[in-house]
Amino acid sequence: MIKEYYTLTRLQMEQVDKTKTLVIVPLGAVEQHGNQAPLGTDTLIAGEMVKRIRAKLQEDEEFLKKDVNVLTFPVIPVGYSVEHQNFCGSVTFKPETYYHVLYDICDGLGRHGFKNIVFLICHGGNRALAEVVSRQARQDLGVKVFLVASGAFSSPRVKATVSPGNEMDFHGGEMETAMVMAIDESLVDLETSAPGHHRYTRKGKKLSFGGSVALPWMGEDFVTEEDLPIGIGGDPKGATAEKGEIILDESANEAAQGIIEIAEII
Ligand SMILES: [Zn+2]
Repeated sequence: MIKEYYTLTRLQMEQVDKTKTLVIVPLGAVEQHGNQAPLGTDTLIAGEMVKRIRAKLQEDEEFLKKDVNVLTFPVIPVGYSVEHQNFCGSVTFKPETYYHVLYDICDGLGRHGFKNIVFLICHGGNRALAEVVSRQARQDLGVKVFLVASGAFSSPRVKATVSPGNEMDFHGGEMETAMVMAIDESLVDLETSAPGHHRYTRKGKKLSFGGSVALPWMGEDFVTEEDLPIGIGGDPKGATAEKGEIILDESANEAAQGIIEIAEII
């Protein structure tokens, strides 16, 4: 059985064998995605991803043989987005609030006997707290919480969609904008788009976000050519719905593959 969690009645839910059921909880966000893409970009993508993951699993004969149920939970629309809080429209849970939101969902599912949950990470900023909840829920509740990434951004098929020269495309850039366009083109206004670059420090150096030294980024670290905060990485202007369709399809392939891997071990 592969269904949306909240479409089942209480009596139907009572019949579900919880020990062989995976509950996928998609984690979205309401935060700025540049001038051109909607505040709900991550939440829209999360809703689309679970729909596509369900469809991919329905078609996968190997998965259907595994005798594992999948129930997809409604998207949690708000996440931990403090890095975008100073941009108009962004709304974030405080870390302690978000921790409890995720923990309480695991607790609720665990009380009914579910043993396996997947957090589908549709906003990178949610990952750190999702990891903490995963460990704590396993210790306290005996529930395994797997983390599955929702964007196949390092897949060659996805990378090939990025326009030449747009090398540092990530948050709110061409790929994410294209994904929204594939869902609903009317929600994107490319006319207003502007590229975002790393802000330079007073010493003329770029802030570094990788390697053995890390500084978790804030939206203001990304600026326009005029040095104004724009909060996105990369240049959205080459985004198209066709590119978005490829990215969504490949991302759903990867995520569905992750679900199949989990189904093999539970
Ligand atoms: Zn996003």
